[in-house]
Amino acid sequence: MSDPQVIAFDRPDMGEEEIAAVAEVLRSGWLTTGPRTRQFEQLFAEYVGARSALAVSSCTAAMEVALATWGLGAGDEVITTPLTFCSTVHVIVHRGATPVLADVSPNDYTLDPVQVANRITPRTRALLPVHLAGLPSQMDHLLEIANAHGLKVLEDAAHAAGARLGERMVGSLGHATAFSFYATKNLTTAEGGMLTSNDESFLAQARLWSLHGLSRDAWKRYTAEGSWQYDVVLPGLKCNMTDLQAALGLVQLAKLERNIARRTEIARRYTAAFSHVPELIPPPEARPGDRHAHHLYLLRLNLDRLRIRRDRFLQELQSRGIGVSVHFIPVYHFTYYRERFGWRAEEFPVCEAIYRSVLSLPCYPRLTDDQVDRVIAAVLEIVETYRV
Ligand SMILES: *Cc1c(COP(=O)(O)O)cnc(C)c1O
Repeated sequence: MSDPQVIAFDRPDMGEEEIAAVAEVLRSGWLTTGPRTRQFEQLFAEYVGARSALAVSSCTAAMEVALATWGLGAGDEVITTPLTFCSTVHVIVHRGATPVLADVSPNDYTLDPVQVANRITPRTRALLPVHLAGLPSQMDHLLEIANAHGLKVLEDAAHAAGARLGERMVGSLGHATAFSFYATKNLTTAEGGMLTSNDESFLAQARLWSLHGLSRDAWKRYTAEGSWQYDVVLPGLKCNMTDLQAALGLVQLAKLERNIARRTEIARRYTAAFSHVPELIPPPEARPGDRHAHHLYLLRLNLDRLRIRRDRFLQELQSRGIGVSVHFIPVYHFTYYRERFGWRAEEFPVCEAIYRSVLSLPCYPRLTDDQVDRVIAAVLEIVETYRV
């Protein structure tokens, strides 16, 4: 399994500090939502420049709670991108609302504001952009459209902790932002997520939605100031974060800037090697003054110049011991979504062209320069062998 010649697609950056932080929580006698979670929420809100933050069990849960808090349901439409993980769309369906897909922009692979504007109807209630790979979506355009039509904007920032638009961090831009701390993400708590917002009353209501709709926090119920009494004010979900996860999150948050710096170095090394190769299309970069979080490195193939397709290219990399992936299989490819909404690939030509040509290379802090160079050499060797 740990063949030194094999380069894993991803490895979490976990160390003794995380182990000690978790052990301390285990010894403290307080396991679930408590003081560590509160501290993580405060420091994360400060980091992204949001007025408040709510720690939950996943990014999926954070999105679900946001849509529930806004009261979205049957008859409401939410516009999102097909180039995402399925849960971005699932949460809309879970609320009984209707997902509407708009194609992505060829320049940054995120929601194309022109396509979004074309899909607005009297039933549209919210936009759900995804900051793919860590590159911020065109938020100024999207917020302008949203404000003109009285829509909410929920950002899926699963890849974008630490990304920035000018001086504004992702997490402080739209009406609400959802982050993921899943095992593969650039800040991980094994499983976990965070909802941030500048609207404190929205977030207070979201907090109720995240814990059964209980009128006071469960953890306060068992402290000296608490009591056995509580009220239930709405049919809430159960997706609170535990102090075990928050303890991991606090250590990981302190490492995040350093880890983004390392991911950025790796991405630059790849792009320097690939940018002059006509068979390859390096990923879009952040606009001047913005910051890409470089969670993923998306390399595209110029298929006109190669004798093999993307799938074969992936196999060639794997056979050289290099872990690879594809982000993402567009949601309209999946049986459920094809059958339920009748979506077809022809409706999303930009997304489909990206999907057919894209692959993700290893890009994580523990990758050494030597390993990066081996990945580069393998990519160039495959191009050399199969160029037209
Ligand atoms: C990982 C991911 C999610 C889901 O995050 P969870 O924390 O596992 O719920 C949502 N959207 C995108 C784009 C993701 O990559």
